[in-house]
Amino acid sequence: MNKKDKETLKRKLEENKKSLEENLKKFAKKDTLPEGDWDTVFPNVEGSSMEEKADEVEEYSSLIKIEEALEVKLKNIDDALKRIEDGSYGNCEKCNGEISYKKLSIIPETRTCKKCS
Ligand SMILES: [Zn+2]
Repeated sequence: MNKKDKETLKRKLEENKKSLEENLKKFAKKDTLPEGDWDTVFPNVEGSSMEEKADEVEEYSSLIKIEEALEVKLKNIDDALKRIEDGSYGNCEKCNGEISYKKLSIIPETRTCKKCS
């Protein structure tokens, strides 16, 4: 992969990271330890009816699922940014072959090539 393509993908990863963090901030707070961990904030249930409370709990559990999915994505992005730094970015972690730019431009945090995924 040439330097320019790498820069483009790096920018894309950084933008994705920013928007993921913005999304997480809406309902979760960032843990300082361990680094990169997020906690879903339980919605304020004070003064609501039982029915409303049940809704809040349901909402909370679905938020946790969303939070986990976003967190995994964020970790993959961080990982890809690290691989850009150490030079292993763009290589498939299974066969070590080059991942196509086409695939990387759609999912820049991808770890495997088309054959292996
Ligand atoms: Zn592969």
